[in-house]
Amino acid sequence: MSTVKCIGILTSGGDAPGMNAAIRAVTRSAIYNGLSVKGIYRGFRGLVADEIVDFKSQNVSNIIQMGGTILKTARCKEFMTPEGRKAAYETMQRHNIDALIIIGGDGSLTGARIFAQEYDVPCIGLPGTIDNDLYGTDTTIGYDTALNTIIDAVDKIRDTATSHDRLFFVEVMGRDAGFLALNGAIASGAEAAIIPEFSTEVDQLEEFIKNGFRKSKNSSIVIVAESDLTGGAMHYAERVKNEYPQYDVRVTILGHVQRGGRPTAHDRILASRLGAAAIDALMEDQRNVMIGIVNDEIVYVPFSRAIKNDKPVKRQLVNVLRELSI
Ligand code: ATP
Repeated sequence: MSTVKCIGILTSGGDAPGMNAAIRAVTRSAIYNGLSVKGIYRGFRGLVADEIVDFKSQNVSNIIQMGGTILKTARCKEFMTPEGRKAAYETMQRHNIDALIIIGGDGSLTGARIFAQEYDVPCIGLPGTIDNDLYGTDTTIGYDTALNTIIDAVDKIRDTATSHDRLFFVEVMGRDAGFLALNGAIASGAEAAIIPEFSTEVDQLEEFIKNGFRKSKNSSIVIVAESDLTGGAMHYAERVKNEYPQYDVRVTILGHVQRGGRPTAHDRILASRLGAAAIDALMEDQRNVMIGIVNDEIVYVPFSRAIKNDKPVKRQLVNVLRELSI
């Protein structure tokens, strides 16, 4: 039986649609299981600086449909130092918090792992990032909503691209992961995706040009993942302008619009399941694991595995895009 009586919950790193649904699920599930809940504002910064409030069921009413995070999020340099983490631990003691639920990406779970080791605090992570780059879960909270935002935008760009016979390079987020770009390209019928996972294998632009855009199309859309490895959309647009001056080339960088908006049904359900499972895990005395869903089953992934392993992009998706964009 778990000895945990009071949990603290925080969102950290980049915000992602569905984080509110996760906060709601964790809070309600904890209360249902007889635990008390403290909301920690601005991620680890709120833990260091003691920005903490009691959370009741009503605190999470009417938020499942909202983007962003009611707990706010931040990046916190102090937490990367032993002094900062000591201050965080002291805050926990002052509030009698004996376990933490951290909703965030790779960096947030890295911080949680170090803190858990230093102070022997049970920490449970939920994968919250639009990038989908955490190993051990099929998708992360926010990814599906961001993907839908991308395809809405690309559908609109397609209208103007077609009207003017233009070639558009559309840059999407993803850090060093190509999931948003590749699946965004498949779902919007784009002609190609340039992603970091394959950037060292082939010249993806050369391949795209060879495979067809000069042949038949009256518009072309290439989705480019933001990344130092790809160089971003501007880099490719400049190359085409230099090598093929006859083409009318444009760039759209989607930017922060990808982080906002109402979460999709998929993200709300994912966040609700993961949030409830986080409390189940604590009640089972699990600690220092990320909760994921693989093949529709809840899994517990040790932080070390979730953080250290790169989540592979399926080559079959690359092939599908190539075949369908002829
Ligand atoms: P996203 O993938 O959406 O950007 P993230 O969780 O990866 O989210 P980061 O900015 O990498 O975002 O990390 C968030 C916070 O986690 C940092 O500001 C810091 O407080 C904490 N953190 C990250 N790495 C470490 C570390 N090595 N040690 C301690 N804390 C860390």
